[in-house]
Amino acid sequence: MNIKHLFGWTLFTDIKDGLRLTLRYMLSKGVTMQYPDKEKWVTYPRHRGHPYLRKDSQDEIKCVGCELCANICPSECITVIPYEDSKGKRRPKVFELDSRRCMYCGLCEDVCPEEAIALGSHLEYSTYDSNDMILNKEQLLNLPGKNEQGGMVVPAELKPGAQVVAKTQDSEQQDPQLGQTQGPQQGKDWWQDIRRH
Ligand code: SF4
Ligand code: SF4
Repeated sequence: MNIKHLFGWTLFTDIKDGLRLTLRYMLSKGVTMQYPDKEKWVTYPRHRGHPYLRKDSQDEIKCVGCELCANICPSECITVIPYEDSKGKRRPKVFELDSRRCMYCGLCEDVCPEEAIALGSHLEYSTYDSNDMILNKEQLLNLPGKNEQGGMVVPAELKPGAQVVAKTQDSEQQDPQLGQTQGPQQGKDWWQDIRRH
């Protein structure tokens, strides 16, 4: 024990410091996020949520049905059956992803030569029937993409069949399972309310 600690111990400064800290927290603004009734966290762009399929600038699916993602997927949760469309382009006739088995490793995103599949911002999905977690091509095309920015809180409202979706890099998209998409929102920097010492 050094001199400083000895003085602190005899003059009860440690207790005083502790009480001051407690008082500061008691009087500071609450930081509890009111999720999902009033607020919702917007994930960072690096967040690896549910895989989704992308479209190109002509609003066509980017996927060329090469099956690389299906072959590399360690969970074997992707099924791709390719075909040739009327323009002679190879496309997926069937593209299914079994979310029950996906472990969000991102290998499908890394291996795709067309940047057609990626892990987006979608994280809220639950069903009464696990078979509903096998998503087809259309459902995967309509899932939210990556967020442009994250680490903030946006206003939310808990309504059956609705959710708040942040602006995405690819486009604003609609969640087929959860319903309507709301427009881009400017969120509040939640971290600024956190006192760091
Ligand atoms: S994130 Fe991983 S586990 Fe999920 S579909 Fe892609 S490769 Fe498979
Ligand atoms: S998503 Fe990419 S890797 Fe998978 S089949 Fe389509 S083009 Fe190939």
